[in-house]
Amino acid sequence: MKEKEMIPVKKNDVLEVTIEDLSYEGLGVAKLGRFPIFVENALPEEIVNIKIVKVLKKFAFAIVLDYVKKAKNRVEADKKLLQTGIAPLQHLAYEDQLIFKQKQVKKALEKIANLPEVPVLNTLGMEKPFGYRNKAQVPVRKIEGELKTGFFRKNSHDVIPMTDFYIQEPKIDEALQKVVEILQSFNVKAYNEAQHEGFLRHIIIRYGHYSHEMMVILVTRKDKFFRGEIIAKKIAEAIPEVVSVMQNVNEDKTNVILGKVNHVLYGKETYRDTLLGNTYEISAPSFYQVNTKQTEKLYETAIDFADLKADDIVVDAYCGIGTIGLSLAKKVAKVYGVEVVPEAIADAKKNALLNDIENVTYQVGKAEDVMKKWQEKNIKPNVVMVDPPRKGLAESFIDATIAMNPEKIVYVSCNPATFARDVALFKEKGGYELEKMQPVDLFPQTTHVECVGLLSKKKK
Ligand code: SAH
Repeated sequence: MKEKEMIPVKKNDVLEVTIEDLSYEGLGVAKLGRFPIFVENALPEEIVNIKIVKVLKKFAFAIVLDYVKKAKNRVEADKKLLQTGIAPLQHLAYEDQLIFKQKQVKKALEKIANLPEVPVLNTLGMEKPFGYRNKAQVPVRKIEGELKTGFFRKNSHDVIPMTDFYIQEPKIDEALQKVVEILQSFNVKAYNEAQHEGFLRHIIIRYGHYSHEMMVILVTRKDKFFRGEIIAKKIAEAIPEVVSVMQNVNEDKTNVILGKVNHVLYGKETYRDTLLGNTYEISAPSFYQVNTKQTEKLYETAIDFADLKADDIVVDAYCGIGTIGLSLAKKVAKVYGVEVVPEAIADAKKNALLNDIENVTYQVGKAEDVMKKWQEKNIKPNVVMVDPPRKGLAESFIDATIAMNPEKIVYVSCNPATFARDVALFKEKGGYELEKMQPVDLFPQTTHVECVGLLSKKKK
């Protein structure tokens, strides 16, 4: 009973609170004693009347009933976008979003790595922080008898229908509507998640920001696609940018969007884009950063931090289609790339040829395994670049890297928490110091934080 007594609120309570902080998920934080209440659409310094909607042991969630005092840095926001989590920071002025992200990095370094003194530079932001996403992946559902695309309501499986996604390239929003109309006209059935029935699960559109080439991926529950190729041809006729229509088959009852099997329904198996002057072929299963312009800033920062020399040997770990390594290959002697998705490595090899780059070697596999093999083969990189997914590096990867004794490690991260954890290990096990951090805003209006860190060994 004791714990219960410590919980100061119950469901449906209404009270006035002052918001003190913004959580890493973009929720306003109010405190009753030491008990935090997370409030949607509330910013620090605001005084709000709230209603408690959910109570857990250590914290509660609330919604705003009305604003007694609004923050100076509040800007007009679309409620739909906040509710879906497409743009959970849209109500915060952009310059304050950039400060919020810089603080997230500082906090992680302080709390997780015990490195409060490392300089964290100002977040590099966008001039126009919307309409930037070069990729859309939207669920398809039948709503009021019609095929609709939209976005999941936060923490739920309800699709809120939507046509203006705000942060996506407008060309993608337009294309989505045309694709939906064509699918409707062929009476294609939407997926029903609860019953695991129906056919079309997701529509994915990928768009080359510079090339203007478009790939449409139709994710289906079954392999057999009645009139699939005819539909794909119609899509290509209606949208001149389309160079590829793919079918991806995902038969599983799962939240994971893509399945393993891909078929070409129309055109090529890849689309192209350009980054820092190089051209890239990108296939459906391959990762490609969603904000092209900011990715260029991110890579430029990473390359600048590496301070490359002509005889350097560089490892590009988690290389995807090769973009980081190929952007710097002409400055150095040799690049080794490793990536776990075979299609991405096939793209990387093509991309090296496409850009007349010969001093690269690619290996499919888990970075932690391949790094160990390279270390045993006595490959000695001066610079190791890493760009892992949110879960960060495996400890065995860190061990293999330390054993190779590179001068510098340039760490590109989309998760400050795992970044900080890994940096602490590099320091403890290998004597690497984190010199500086640069956050780059790849995801304006959202709470996602991307950053680059430079680690080096103090010269003895
Ligand atoms: N550097 C690339 C890709 C970064 S995303 C770019 O900037 O575009 C991270 C990549 O790591 C993805 O391509 C993912 O497929 C890959 N990956 C995930 N786990 C991996 C592992 N254990 N070993 C190697 N690559 C992995």
